[in-house]
Amino acid sequence: MKNITILGATGSIGSSTLSVIAHNPQRYNVYALGAGSNHTKMLALCLQWQPQYAAMANKAAAQTLQQALRAAGCKTQVLAGEESLCHIASLPEVDMVMAAIVGAAGLLSTMAAVKAGKRLLLANKEALVMSGQLFVDAVKKYNAQLMPVDSEHNAIFQCLSPNIQTNLGHCDLQAAGVSKILLTGSGGPFRYSDIESLHSVTPEQAIAHPNWSMGPKISVDSASMMNKGLEYIEARWLFNASKEQLKVVIHPQSVIHSMVQYQDGSTLAQLGEPDMCTPISLTLAYPERVPAGVKALDFTEIGELSFIKPDFARYPCLELAIDACYSGQHATTALNAANEIAVDAFLNRRIAFTDIARVNSRVMDKVCATEQASQLDSLESLIELDRMARSLAREQLS
Ligand code: NDP
Repeated sequence: MKNITILGATGSIGSSTLSVIAHNPQRYNVYALGAGSNHTKMLALCLQWQPQYAAMANKAAAQTLQQALRAAGCKTQVLAGEESLCHIASLPEVDMVMAAIVGAAGLLSTMAAVKAGKRLLLANKEALVMSGQLFVDAVKKYNAQLMPVDSEHNAIFQCLSPNIQTNLGHCDLQAAGVSKILLTGSGGPFRYSDIESLHSVTPEQAIAHPNWSMGPKISVDSASMMNKGLEYIEARWLFNASKEQLKVVIHPQSVIHSMVQYQDGSTLAQLGEPDMCTPISLTLAYPERVPAGVKALDFTEIGELSFIKPDFARYPCLELAIDACYSGQHATTALNAANEIAVDAFLNRRIAFTDIARVNSRVMDKVCATEQASQLDSLESLIELDRMARSLAREQLS
């Protein structure tokens, strides 16, 4: 029986993780749950799963939760504040931590799990994007076990050999015979829309992903392909990949979740239903496989699979992210921060969809011109840069 902490328990990945655990109650125990402010959902989860701890970043939400749990006679101990999320990520009783808080808000608790040497199931790609080298070095230093949850990185992981799988962040793709990693993406809901019409799309249209059901931020990122850009940066760090070894391919059907090409001409792919329970179950059970509650593909139902080269005129955020990846840590940290502010503004109807790329680009230009760009050797300095980029992004909005 493995004890698990789920950070971001009230979200989409949190729900999928609990669904996989429900299929394997003899193997996994929900030890602690963490989230931001949704105390109503957290109350329901605590009553169902009876964890030892429930941590809420929002202190008022934690207080409401505590009163409701007490009234219901539930013994779950409620903790409050961001530090409580770090606490439940590093408890000695915990074997695995699902890092599924959205955005930079998940950085410190994700790092706390790394520093406690846990098996880290990494969904919170923004944490890796904003801390890159520091993150993978900490994984090695503290002997944590990194497991990629993102369906693309999980697919790539499955197509690689065990010596790479167990050395993520520091592996040698070339020595393992890998020539290229092909990161696939659906292209989102606007892949066939007239580019001129993109400035007037609504949040509802952007969130309506054709294949996947996800939280609002990642859904908008999928529509702009910023998500693929963040995944590109994530792949660069996880697989220690060079520019020549990474390529993005649009695959509208989302049947293939990514591929690895080898020097002998072979291409290995991982295929499956667009359901996060599959990659999550692998990160929990690796190197074993357990039921995930997902049916296998029926190839007679799939029809044709197609592939398209991404067009940067349609997806400027993807190009920005690839450029940032090779500009340095300052650029990826700034881009991630600006994007969080811009997406939030778009979701709140303050800016147009096409303004997201504009805000991101301007903030990146400004940050790249500052002195802080060259002094990023600690988490504190990254957080400071993140703050500066957010403030620049807010200036752009006003
Ligand atoms: P959701 O929006 O559905 O859930 C986000 C979670 O983060 C909620 O539990 C929320 O808590 C919590 N949260 C938000 N802000 C804070 C905060 N300041 N402090 C603590 N917790 C906070 O997102 P998803 O589940 O879709 O995505 C989560 C992560 O997984 C993202 O990084 C995303 O990129 C990644 N991912 C998601 C995939 C998917 O299919 N959904 C696929 C691959 C990766 P509350 O609601 O209580 O405030």
